[in-house]
Amino acid sequence: MSIKQRLAKLNPRQQEAVRYIDGPCLVLAGAGSGKTSVITTKIAYLVQECGMSARRIAAVTFTNKAAREMKERVGQMLKGREGHGLTVSTFHTLGLNIIRAELKALGYRPGFSLFDPEDAKALLRDLMNKDAQVDADQINRVQHQISQWKNDLILPGQALSHAADDDEQYAARVFEAYGRHLKAYNAVDFDDLILLPVVLLRDDPEALARWRRKIHYMLVDEYQDTNVSQYQLVQLLMGERKTFTVVGDDDQSIYAWRGARPENLVTLGEDFPRLNVIKLEQNYRSTGTILRAANTLIANNPHVYEKTLWSEMGQGAAIRVVVNRHEEAEAERVASEILTRRIKERAEWRDFAVLYRGNFQARLLELKLQHYQIPYKLSGGTSFFSRNEIKDAMAYLRLLINPADDNAFLRIVNVPRREIGPGTLEKLANYATERGISLFAACHELGLEQLLPTRAVERLSRFTHFIDGVRRRMDRGDALAAIRDMLREMDYEAWLYQNASAPTIAERRMANVWILIDQLEKSMQREPEETTASEETETEGVEAAISRLVLRDILEQQAEEDDSDRVQLLTMHASKGLEFPHVYLMGLEEELLPHRNAIEAGTVEEERRLAYVGITRARQTLTLTLARQRKAYGELMDCAPSRFLDELPADDLDWEGRADKEDPDKKQARGQDALAGIRSLLG
Ligand code: ATP
Ligand code: MG
Repeated sequence: MSIKQRLAKLNPRQQEAVRYIDGPCLVLAGAGSGKTSVITTKIAYLVQECGMSARRIAAVTFTNKAAREMKERVGQMLKGREGHGLTVSTFHTLGLNIIRAELKALGYRPGFSLFDPEDAKALLRDLMNKDAQVDADQINRVQHQISQWKNDLILPGQALSHAADDDEQYAARVFEAYGRHLKAYNAVDFDDLILLPVVLLRDDPEALARWRRKIHYMLVDEYQDTNVSQYQLVQLLMGERKTFTVVGDDDQSIYAWRGARPENLVTLGEDFPRLNVIKLEQNYRSTGTILRAANTLIANNPHVYEKTLWSEMGQGAAIRVVVNRHEEAEAERVASEILTRRIKERAEWRDFAVLYRGNFQARLLELKLQHYQIPYKLSGGTSFFSRNEIKDAMAYLRLLINPADDNAFLRIVNVPRREIGPGTLEKLANYATERGISLFAACHELGLEQLLPTRAVERLSRFTHFIDGVRRRMDRGDALAAIRDMLREMDYEAWLYQNASAPTIAERRMANVWILIDQLEKSMQREPEETTASEETETEGVEAAISRLVLRDILEQQAEEDDSDRVQLLTMHASKGLEFPHVYLMGLEEELLPHRNAIEAGTVEEERRLAYVGITRARQTLTLTLARQRKAYGELMDCAPSRFLDELPADDLDWEGRADKEDPDKKQARGQDALAGIRSLLG
């Protein structure tokens, strides 16, 4: 299909959004109205119609899944080399690429480490425990506060003046120490992936000029979820040119808790007076019933921009509400229904998606799906990367590219067992801290011999020599072969067998490690499409591939990137931007959706938007399920139906489990009745 034909398929407003390239453009529209379609078509338009090199275009979004989906859609439009060098990635991947290309300007040494939130927490724990014993809650609060500051572009030196109370002042001091230590470790954390590029581009005119030469057009999906620093990044990169298209929907803003600023939509109009705002009103995704439910629900929230959405997809089936005795019955019900509906409705597994508020809700469901042998794909949750064997292997990889990575060092210095005890490590750590060097470097120092028994020194140096040897082999040639040899030489497999309760478990764990190494290999071989035209793109080494793996880990992506036929299990947060013919929304209960924390914090509006996101993923059918009892904190608790059920159009709901053949006159009151009925059932 030519680009002209593609354009012709879009409605006039969408066409306008695609064609408008001379200034800033904002597409503000509800779910399923074709915002992402505008972005993908516009990329093709820029390349094929305007003759822009794909290297000069960067499109960003929020989740890996969404980025992959977008890449796929663009891939179908651009042929051969047309798409070469195009950036379609998450904000954080774009940031990572900028950091990698600008290491020197940023004052980092090659082979930097990316700390995942667990590493960051470990560092914070160390720093905070220096003064007094602190508990996990305090650490979490400080971590959250630091993250918030970083998202708001507040640097360590400035945090103190932003601190509102004693707690925040304390956090600000920890923030300073944390920043210094990260730098000393040659490491960055997740939020730095945006913050560092912003600070660099803001303060270094040459770097700014470099990146403005590289990126000429930017497109941002899910713009309502950008935070202050992400917005700055877009602004800095686009500069005078002001050539960008952002699309968003304020009703789908669900990341306020992570610093997202939906008001960035309004700010955009102030910062760019020539902003062309285009609204889309036709929904191409859902049936009339589903759309009405979504619209009615979200009408309960205050609105900056009024939007009306309509659809020509027909009314479709009523929305089913299924009340279950308890959570296990709920999971059983969803699994067995999918099994029968697949046959009855001639659907494929992948046509079904089950969405829920929290990952823990997936556990029972997984068991039921396994019971019926239904293939499924779980996004997020206990991801591949949170497995112990993968964390070990990742720590080895990180240490290989950056021996100053103390967290990695500590994780594996004794894995497999090398008889290096905590006493030795503590002395080593003191020695290293006094001299301001890394643990790895400290192992090489002669001074250690005064502190530690000879045997301990020998064991440490055996370990560091081993790692140094692998590093030398990696430098000399085949890095992957060196890594594979390393795993065999240290007999990690034997160690897994010693520690597993059954041989099959050890076997699977070792297989996971090899999968990781295969992923690394793939990641090194693939076309550098995400690398935003940085100078080093063509010679992607093992270092770049490893840091990308760490990022993937953080973004909770599963190891396999397959499009095989499976039922999709994901949180509502992760479902953003996606669509499925049949959607199950589980756990529509008070305290779960809306979540208890949100009720307590008075942020139910954000929960409502989350429910809105969930509902609008459905194309043909939507089923809402809830349980009357659920286990929480080890006890069976009674649950009340979610208030959001009250807010849906009663006429469109088909409740299950109650006397259904009522007088048609009573139909009006049906949903309300049903709720009352359920409530009385609940006692
Ligand atoms: P969300 O807010 O959920 O991210 P969106 O606004 O990005 O939704 P898209 O995902 O781009 O919406 O589009 C929703 C569906 O409508 C997709 O299946 C897309 O292919 C289809 N679509 C978009 N525009 C048109 C059009 N003009 N004609 C027919 N189908 C369209
Ligand atoms: Mg979209």
